[in-house]
Amino acid sequence: MNKYNFDVITLFPKAFDLIKNLGVITRALDKKLINVNLHDLREYGEGTYRQVDDKPYGGGSGMVLKPGPIFKAHESIIKLPKCKTLLMTPQGKVLKQKDLVRWSKIDQIIIICGQYEGFDERVRSLADEEISMGDYVLSGGEIPALSIINGLTRLIPGTLGDPDSLVDESHNSSLLEYPHYTRPQVFKEMKVPDTLVSGNHEEIRLWREKKMFERTIKRREDLISEKIYQNSTIGEELRKKIKNPFQLIIENDLINYPDW
Ligand code: SAH
Repeated sequence: MNKYNFDVITLFPKAFDLIKNLGVITRALDKKLINVNLHDLREYGEGTYRQVDDKPYGGGSGMVLKPGPIFKAHESIIKLPKCKTLLMTPQGKVLKQKDLVRWSKIDQIIIICGQYEGFDERVRSLADEEISMGDYVLSGGEIPALSIINGLTRLIPGTLGDPDSLVDESHNSSLLEYPHYTRPQVFKEMKVPDTLVSGNHEEIRLWREKKMFERTIKRREDLISEKIYQNSTIGEELRKKIKNPFQLIIENDLINYPDW
């Protein structure tokens, strides 16, 4: 099996020590399913002081990463046939599970992490895709890069102990996942729903399907497409009830804890 290659261009390679302590990801590293190559931007810095940033033209606060070091670092990376360069930026497309699935089918991801006020605009020309972690601003692209490495590695065959755990999970089907419980059956007066301990597999399946719809309708209705409703009798029924909110009783199995 070919290894999946991550190449990260960063001013803070130490931030990636975290992947050595992240369970599933660490296992993938140990099993040599993934390779994480860190490219320290400082090594590509210019002049005696290995300068990587400079003041913005036109004035303004903060420093901007120079294009030269980033281009040099990018050029130094050996590119595999199926490779994509991702630029971490709050101005990019917000990361979705389907992006991770798409990238899991190629051989290599190069991630460019910004810092300070960001990077010289010309760096954008290196990127196949510009990716944002969400509508908020972080101080650097390292945490977004770690998120991508983490999310993508779980999708690589051989990484997860139980590959079935990928099937139902949130954002795979555009529905959020159903609630999980483990022992004990009663915890601080909060009880595991009876259906889950009934041993009736069909009832459990239906309960889970209903919970997925209830939860998604309540929290993220924007995720549910017309097709998803149409493919589920339970979904259609819940949608009809929602049109008339007085009919909608989403019974919480655990009334006494906040669901959202
Ligand atoms: N002034 C810039 C933000 C700079 S934040 C602007 O308004 O666009 C510094 C760096 O952190 C960015 O270059 C980017 O690499 C990273 N970063 C910050 N927030 C991010 C987010 N939501 N998603 C991805 N990367 C982000």
